[in-house]
Amino acid sequence: MNISSGQFDEDQDMFDYAPFSHGLYIDGHWRPSSDGRVIEVIDPSTEAVIAAVPDATLADAAAAVDAAAKAAAGWRETPPRKRSEILRRCFDLMSERAEALAFLISLENGKALRDARGEIAYAAEFFRWNAEEAVRISGEFGLAPSGANRIIVDYQPIGICVLITPWNFPAAMATRKIAPALAAGCTVILKPASETPLTAYALAALYEEAGVPPGVVNVLTTSKPGPVTAAMLADPRVRKLSFTGSTGIGRLLLAAAAKHVISCSMELGGNAPFIVFDDADLEAALDGAMVAKMRNAGEACTAANRLYVQAGIHDAFTEGLSNRMAALNVGTGTDPQTECGPMITRKAVDKIDRLVKDAVARGAKIQCGGAIADGKGYFYPPTVLRDVPADAVMAHEEIFGPVAPITRFDDEAEVIAKANDTEYGLAAYIYTRDLARGMRVASKIESGMIALNRGLMSDPAAPFGGVKQSGLGREGGQKHGVAEFLEAKYIAVTI
Ligand code: NAP
Repeated sequence: MNISSGQFDEDQDMFDYAPFSHGLYIDGHWRPSSDGRVIEVIDPSTEAVIAAVPDATLADAAAAVDAAAKAAAGWRETPPRKRSEILRRCFDLMSERAEALAFLISLENGKALRDARGEIAYAAEFFRWNAEEAVRISGEFGLAPSGANRIIVDYQPIGICVLITPWNFPAAMATRKIAPALAAGCTVILKPASETPLTAYALAALYEEAGVPPGVVNVLTTSKPGPVTAAMLADPRVRKLSFTGSTGIGRLLLAAAAKHVISCSMELGGNAPFIVFDDADLEAALDGAMVAKMRNAGEACTAANRLYVQAGIHDAFTEGLSNRMAALNVGTGTDPQTECGPMITRKAVDKIDRLVKDAVARGAKIQCGGAIADGKGYFYPPTVLRDVPADAVMAHEEIFGPVAPITRFDDEAEVIAKANDTEYGLAAYIYTRDLARGMRVASKIESGMIALNRGLMSDPAAPFGGVKQSGLGREGGQKHGVAEFLEAKYIAVTI
């Protein structure tokens, strides 16, 4: 199988990793790291080493900033229509090669092929959407209230951007930043997660083929993300940091960026409540819960982390969810039959296990799953817990795995208070047939995004992001995503 041809070979042994193992992508060239070191890439389904990518040094990071700086003027002056056409070509190529790219994601991330296909469709859509945005970046013109002058506001590219992404959506988290940055006229350096670099490099090759000029997108992997990022942020030519990852690392990066007063966009952790009222359509709520909980085997920032179910529907919902979770097909990511793949690392499995044991010790009851599987691969079985108390650690931390903790509630005010009892505020889900109640509860939940009678809210056309410690800024949406990469320039003029 080969990404450039888009051919998908059913025989996994035929997979050719070589194109993605031979270099950092800097200034349109593939090169080893300056000290020759590499990072091994592991298939979480088998624990086998499947590739090695260069481990960038501070000197490599400096070279990437040089490349982005060299390309900046040319890209910024490229007509928006031309930038738009290149972005559209990225969408077309990603769509043509969706199957091969999805396979690569499943291989290095472990997510089920069907989830990987969904991710590629979502990731590609950021290019189509931002191809449309690129030609609609407009300014403002008006009369000053004093009448003395006109006010002109011009929106200009913010400058060189450092983009840092996590492993859970190796394609989409990168394209959600790269596409609007390029639409705005910025050049970028992407540092993907060390666990999933192959998708980022495969996409870099695709951008080049789509016509993205050398230096406009640079990609580097490193095992020293702290020092490498600090060095890039200390370069006065870098003006933007866009980060997706954990709240803990986000806090560190905000502090590092503060030293140089760099604009930050932060897409951080979540602790989404999934609320089911008595009057909900039970089947629809179960369908939604399976999507909200099990997309990516629970390894999503928007994953339902706490399920609050009203007393009247609680038992039926708990039984229905347990039946569905227990019936899921757990297996290797690349097996087309798999519905729940492995977790990303052994550490992630151990964390889930610790959270489940803590909840059980505090009184939660296991409905299904609840124990680490034996054998190779980082597997944790789909698990449902009921009677999870408010002091369970998992009620306050991201589980990031296939565990659904259910808690019973009685009334609306109580569940709103419970839902808001967290430092996070990324996503929330509400199921009710009473639209007025749904809208009332949605307005009171402290969250950047709400899905009302839906299990999925992500859409490139809608502003994605969190409140509280879930982040700063928005990605996607009408103007929001591109605005993160623009700076307003005000010109006062007397005519
Ligand atoms: P993470 O540990 O915070 O890592 C994210 C990225 O930051 C990786 O590329 C990582 O590199 C890098 N990194 C780690 N330490 C760093 C440092 N000191 N300086 C600069 N960069 C550093 O998060 P993760 O475990 O990969 O991803 C899961 C988290 O992401 C969850 O909390 C999830 O909720 C969040 N997330 C949020 C959104 C959203 O849109 N809000 C979307 C997806 C995921 P290495 O891989 O080399 O360590």
